[in-house]
Amino acid sequence: MQQFIDQLPKLAKDKHNENKKFFTKLKKKPPKKLDEIMQDLHQDEFEKTDCLACGNCCRTTGPLFLDKDVERIAKHFRMKSSQFEAQYLRRDEDGDLVLQETPCAFLGDDNYCSIYDVRPKACREYPHTDRKKFQQISDLTLKNVAICPAAYNIVEKMKATIDLEHKSNRRA
Ligand code: SF4
Ligand code: SF4
Repeated sequence: MQQFIDQLPKLAKDKHNENKKFFTKLKKKPPKKLDEIMQDLHQDEFEKTDCLACGNCCRTTGPLFLDKDVERIAKHFRMKSSQFEAQYLRRDEDGDLVLQETPCAFLGDDNYCSIYDVRPKACREYPHTDRKKFQQISDLTLKNVAICPAAYNIVEKMKATIDLEHKSNRRA
């Protein structure tokens, strides 16, 4: 797994143009059953991929914290939201609350999240590959394939299995 993680930035870079073209077409004419297709691809991939053997998202990028996330996690630590914010978070250039530093302070050496039950919504949903209307988050996915091995594999599977040319409907 680690070897694949190390190679991901280069692999993703090599596939970037191909992926971009694919997502442009996907956005223009998404298949009717895209939500179902993504659910299946996501489920198949995460049956094989063990996040505890990876942890790359928590090590290299941080989630965005919503106010509700801050309230919930601060409560878990019996802290005030303002205290939690001051200790762990900062506002980025867009004004969003993000981690002060990566790897995430809540990631253990064993890749377990010490606040798993109360973790931010963005962590629960990452890498968003089972999201409805997946075509709407193509820019984010183009970035995620360089971080998340599962997202990379899912996008490769999408390209191999989703027929955006509708070739089967064409006359020869
Ligand atoms: S809160 Fe947990 S799941 Fe989210 S980045 Fe930190 S360690 Fe990972
Ligand atoms: S979501 Fe992706 S990057 Fe994060 S631990 Fe799982 S496989 Fe690794």
